[in-house]
Amino acid sequence: MSDVKPSTLAAQALGWSHPSTGALVPSVIPSAPYERAPDGSYPSGHTYTRDQNPTYEQAEALLVALEGGVGAKLFSSGMAAATTVFETLESGSHVVAPRHMYWTIQRWLEQLAATGRIVLDFVPNGDLEGLRSTLRPGRTKIVWVETPSNPTCDITDIAASAQIAHAAGARVVVDGTVATPVLCQPLTLGADLVMHSATKQLNGHSDVLAGALVTRTDDELWTQIGHDRSSRGAVLGPFEAWLLLRGMRTVFLRVPAAARNALRVAEMLAQHPGVVQVMYPGLKSHPGHSVAARQMQGGYGMMLSFRPAGGEPVAKQIVGALRLFRNATSLGGVESLVEHRAPVEGPGTAVPDDLIRLSLGIEDADDLVSDLDQALARIAT
Ligand SMILES: *Cc1c(COP(=O)(O)O)cnc(C)c1O
Repeated sequence: MSDVKPSTLAAQALGWSHPSTGALVPSVIPSAPYERAPDGSYPSGHTYTRDQNPTYEQAEALLVALEGGVGAKLFSSGMAAATTVFETLESGSHVVAPRHMYWTIQRWLEQLAATGRIVLDFVPNGDLEGLRSTLRPGRTKIVWVETPSNPTCDITDIAASAQIAHAAGARVVVDGTVATPVLCQPLTLGADLVMHSATKQLNGHSDVLAGALVTRTDDELWTQIGHDRSSRGAVLGPFEAWLLLRGMRTVFLRVPAAARNALRVAEMLAQHPGVVQVMYPGLKSHPGHSVAARQMQGGYGMMLSFRPAGGEPVAKQIVGALRLFRNATSLGGVESLVEHRAPVEGPGTAVPDDLIRLSLGIEDADDLVSDLDQALARIAT
């Protein structure tokens, strides 16, 4: 199936059929143990479900195909996937991360740094000169990139970051949650690993907590990552892996549809007198637009943020006045969500206190625009 498009691979879940029953829909295999042959070997290649399970492998194989990688591993959450990368580092390793990134990962890195486990520096998102001058050749092990960043929608040039990081002997890991492999394939741009919160748009139905790592090379780091997942057991359950694979079969329909809605809403908000800033890389006025246009295809993602005139009190009122946008944390479902973000992140957040984050679903764009219009109009009066 290597000669067909990724959307075809996803729709057909790699064209799998069950070898003895002919079933076209993948099965859930809940078994924890796998039988040995009389000689003690494991003819199926499976030993115990903390190490391998056929249900994970189908979703993993599809992710490998969509990302253009050589290996993928599912984890029990996006956080489990992200933290596993850092667990493989030797004590005292230097890590460079962006100023704006998924806040729970950022907090976790700060805690690691506070205990001396890693040495941590932040650079402004997309600042390549800042990255170059912050790297410590030989000591920097990981350059973490998140593009577009949650929730500020900053864009980082993946190919340029990889070149700079590799020259200093560091690996680049991209949190590709917001873009998904439909819009951007970081490994083909030179990143070493891509990480996903598959809870978001990969699954797309807000009913699974899952994470994934995909690698460009089958190297020592990848072996360590596999070891870590097997030892600590932060692996996805087979039922969740099955739901995730079912969700991924429609990812090529859902992602562009949500991105079209996001662009439409961003354009509407950008012209609204009640809005002072719209953060969306699909807008030509966005500082990262040209880089995003180069490294993304088919849209700029389902997430956008904006800041209303009148500051934090008005932001709260708007969130409360929306009817179709549901007030809840998360991203990437088929239903649109809204969140007043800074209070969620808490003290010390770099997110402006009046920032409203939207996750666009696949509803009718006119309905979503009308909902924002009525919420903004209620403030104006
Ligand atoms: C949600 C999210 C995560 C964390 O994933 P979980 O599945 O919730 O653990 C990481 N990065 C980004 C960009 C996210 O949006």
